[in-house]
Amino acid sequence: MTDAKVLICGASIGGPALAYWLVRHGFDVTVVERAPGPRPGGQAVDVRGPALDVAERMGVLAEIRAASTGMRGMSMVDADGAEIFRSEEHTLSGGDLASPDVEVLRDDLAAILMRAAGGEVEYLFDDSPAAVEQDEQGVDVVFAGGARRRFDLVVGADGLHSTTRRLVFGPESDFITHLGTYLGVWSAPNFLGLDHWQVFHQTPDGWGGGVLTARDNTELRVYLGFESATPLEYDHRDVAGQKRILAERLRNAGWVIPRLLEHMWDAPDFHFDSMAQIHMDSWSHGRVALLGDAGYCGSPLSGQGTSMAMVGAYVLAGELKAAGGDHRAAFAAYESELRGYVTANQELALTNKRRVEAQQAAEAGDTEAAAALAEGLADFTDVIGSFKPKDY
Ligand SMILES: Cc1cc2nc3c(=O)[nH]c(=O)nc-3n(C[C@H](O)[C@H](O)[C@H](O)COP(=O)(O)OP(=O)(O)OC[C@H]3O[C@@H](n4cnc5c(N)ncnc54)[C@H](O)[C@@H]3O)c2cc1C
Repeated sequence: MTDAKVLICGASIGGPALAYWLVRHGFDVTVVERAPGPRPGGQAVDVRGPALDVAERMGVLAEIRAASTGMRGMSMVDADGAEIFRSEEHTLSGGDLASPDVEVLRDDLAAILMRAAGGEVEYLFDDSPAAVEQDEQGVDVVFAGGARRRFDLVVGADGLHSTTRRLVFGPESDFITHLGTYLGVWSAPNFLGLDHWQVFHQTPDGWGGGVLTARDNTELRVYLGFESATPLEYDHRDVAGQKRILAERLRNAGWVIPRLLEHMWDAPDFHFDSMAQIHMDSWSHGRVALLGDAGYCGSPLSGQGTSMAMVGAYVLAGELKAAGGDHRAAFAAYESELRGYVTANQELALTNKRRVEAQQAAEAGDTEAAAALAEGLADFTDVIGSFKPKDY
């Protein structure tokens, strides 16, 4: 059934990448996105390891490289803004500057992937699945906007708080692990006059955050957060309420954080979420599968969410092609191909904190502490390169 109708929920990274591959394999693709258009915002995300290979096979690697944030380095500053550390070899957001990895703004990458997927994809913006019912032959989807349509397959690429997962697999609380940190992301003017640079400040009472320049130094992308031992209760759709939470938590923060918070109130691209992971025993149920953060979120701490979504899209579409559209065989193969890579990358998020602490101890000259912290940590480069995409 190569002309099978597939509904993809979510048009960020995994959704458009899957749309690209499914169209090329002869499927009929509809993408539904809750936002009224392609969503702006997001920090720099990283395309690494096999995701570079997938981008190359899509013919978009050069475009992604051209859109790279082009960071030259980073500084850490104290509460008065005095530099306490600088590096022109690595950055906190993107890692080793000499590596082949590409760091790119999330919205720029999403736009490149959507353009690549082309005009054959049907997009339904400002809508969302409200009910999903499947039988042996297909899946009936009732949309929040009132339409009812039937598809052969449905793929949820709708992120950490996936509606598809909730409707088909069960409540989010069954699958989510909070990692104890909340992060807000938004844009501000580059009032610090930085040139392809990032600056971070850590508050004494938990997390601070930082800024990095974007769009030829005309913008700052701000990310500020805080730690919370217990998960917060808040409305995921109430943006003003999320801004209030962040402003309250960071009210005593130093450096330019008060000024960054002033810009937050009018920012059109504010995004706030917990650092969390999704762990599921199975990424599919009948004719419905999950992709990217919806099925196996690693959290921004892994630095691998974007690569996992792009690689996942390639494998899922490839296995559907290889199985001639037999979703049972394809979904099983998708999972057995990818499970080890996903697990290793989710573990990276848990060890990355220790990795950063080890690096800071080494920079402070405490080699003993650095060695103790680094002991037993999986090598980052080995993990990100631990998957080789097949040819489909
Ligand atoms: C606005 C935004 C900012 C982000 N900022 C960062 C960041 O700074 N750093 C970082 O590491 N990661 C960030 N992420 C997450 C990062 O994009 C993902 O971890 C990764 O790229 C995997 O992408 P994904 O496509 O699986 O999920 P996501 O990128 O989360 O995309 C999910 C998409 O599904 C849409 N959606 C959600 N619910 C529904 C629904 N019910 N119906 C239809 N569509 C729905 C969302 O609007 C979104 O476009 C951000 C995501 C978004 C959406």
